[in-house]
Amino acid sequence: MGLYMLRQPRGDWRSDVEALVAAALNRRRLLGVYWLPHRGILAAVFRDPLDRWGLFEPLDPRELESAPRMECPRGCGYCCALRSGAMVLDVELRYLPRWARRLVEGRPYRLVETRLFGPVRVYSLATGPLGSCVFFNPRTGGCRLEEAAGRDAKPILCRLTYCTLFATGPRGRLLRVPGSRAPKYRPATRREWEEAVRELRARWVEAWRKRGLGLA
Ligand code: SF4
Ligand code: SF4
Repeated sequence: MGLYMLRQPRGDWRSDVEALVAAALNRRRLLGVYWLPHRGILAAVFRDPLDRWGLFEPLDPRELESAPRMECPRGCGYCCALRSGAMVLDVELRYLPRWARRLVEGRPYRLVETRLFGPVRVYSLATGPLGSCVFFNPRTGGCRLEEAAGRDAKPILCRLTYCTLFATGPRGRLLRVPGSRAPKYRPATRREWEEAVRELRARWVEAWRKRGLGLA
């Protein structure tokens, strides 16, 4: 049994979509996204992923011993409500509940020709008001996929990208220290976490209200 991390994004569509497909096919083996300070990277860590493509590299478990694990507390919704950039890959459609699959199929998509997986359809979900995601639930500030079927039901891109403000470590909740270029964390109480979530939530709520958008 071993730990592996997904190849780092390269900033070109083809290879990044390939990495996303490999991550999506291993979605149940995803342990989380960790900040590895000595490497200066966020690493998506998997347990024994299937990897016929050479897209994962072994990771020494000691590297995770005190590494902050990224978190997305429920009820924030900031990334989903404004310019979400949300996407789902065609290979993920089979994992979606039927109602969600229907919502995605027939939407515009970008066809990405990959070397490893052939053509991959990448559907945009960011077509709601103010670029919000079609699965965003403004009433709860949550994700309708997560609400219906649990955290694993979210598209892989949503499970790999974080604001990096919230994390957990061996001793519990952490908050990012403001102003630090590379993420640095300090222990946080539950109240501090909740306050930080409320502040982020208030930002998109304000933007929605200004545009006359309801939250119901
Ligand atoms: S801002 Fe952070 S906590 Fe809020 S939705 Fe985005 S990733 Fe989650
Ligand atoms: S799929 Fe869910 S988590 Fe991802 S952007 Fe949409 S609402 Fe947010």
